[in-house]
Amino acid sequence: MLTEADTAIVFNIQHYSVHDGPGIRTTVFLKGCPLNCWWCHNPESRDGKPAIFMFPDRCIGCETCLTVCPENVAEPLDWNPAGRCDVERCTMCLECADACPAEARTVVGTPYGVDELMAEIDKDQVFYEQSGGGVTFSGGDPLGTRQNAAFLLSCLKACEKRGYHRAVDTAGFASRQTVLSVAPLTDLFLYDLKMLDDEKHRKYVGVSNQLILDNLRLLSSLDAEVWIRVPLIPGINDDDCNLDETAAFVSSLDRSYPIHLLPYHRIGSDKHRHLDEDYLLQTLDPPSDEEVARAAERLRAHSLEVIVGGSRDE
Ligand code: SF4
Ligand code: SF4
Repeated sequence: MLTEADTAIVFNIQHYSVHDGPGIRTTVFLKGCPLNCWWCHNPESRDGKPAIFMFPDRCIGCETCLTVCPENVAEPLDWNPAGRCDVERCTMCLECADACPAEARTVVGTPYGVDELMAEIDKDQVFYEQSGGGVTFSGGDPLGTRQNAAFLLSCLKACEKRGYHRAVDTAGFASRQTVLSVAPLTDLFLYDLKMLDDEKHRKYVGVSNQLILDNLRLLSSLDAEVWIRVPLIPGINDDDCNLDETAAFVSSLDRSYPIHLLPYHRIGSDKHRHLDEDYLLQTLDPPSDEEVARAAERLRAHSLEVIVGGSRDE
């Protein structure tokens, strides 16, 4: 019988990644995340189950979706460009997407077993060896759901046996026990730190930041390797107060960590449209180079190492 540790829903496997840790890496994106960040650039990853992306401009009006839908709620996207159907009655059986000949409805997320995923990861072994790279588990959040965390543990053990460098990209909203079980098997955490004010965190991220801060303190006390990643979102967390509070918190940890400043970009906005969701930051522009440089300098004033971007090589 399959257990939670045996399977997870994977929505992307990115080969030759140079942004998610040292060297050339394979980044595995697991579906499922308990947060709800306004700027999320992978909104298709929040729900732990497979989802449907909709591309109305690809629809050829064949009406196959209409024919196969067991609930009689799917509509050709040229009738209904917004893609909305009766969401109360849609069971997300995915039959319309599986049957769509034009990929106007596309399934996002595929169940993977540990062995199947490791076979995919093993294909890039030579690049890990030559570049000092390895495997990064991202999401969604690989620690963010019970199933993801159980699956992650199995994969980390399999990677450890093969001698692969292992990174975990997480927002840290997980139980203390989960963090304690994953930490000994992880060479590097890419750890998101979005904002220190708890009220603002609840508003823009959907949850309190208390657990996230506690788990980062815990990792620091365990002497874990961590790259702290701060998304820089204009008007939301780029104010001096948050930058100073972030720097003070990072400085208070048991060991010193670099901060990777990740400027906001708009990649997520199209994805929200394909999911037929509203994007709350529709009118927000990315920060200018000057604004990014100013934020980096503000953090560096606290004697912290600050890198703009996700990799030390960028
Ligand atoms: S099956 Fe796809 S291409 Fe055909 S009508 Fe439905 S959405 Fe359009
Ligand atoms: S996912 Fe299933 S129930 Fe929902 S619209 Fe498509 S075919 Fe119908």
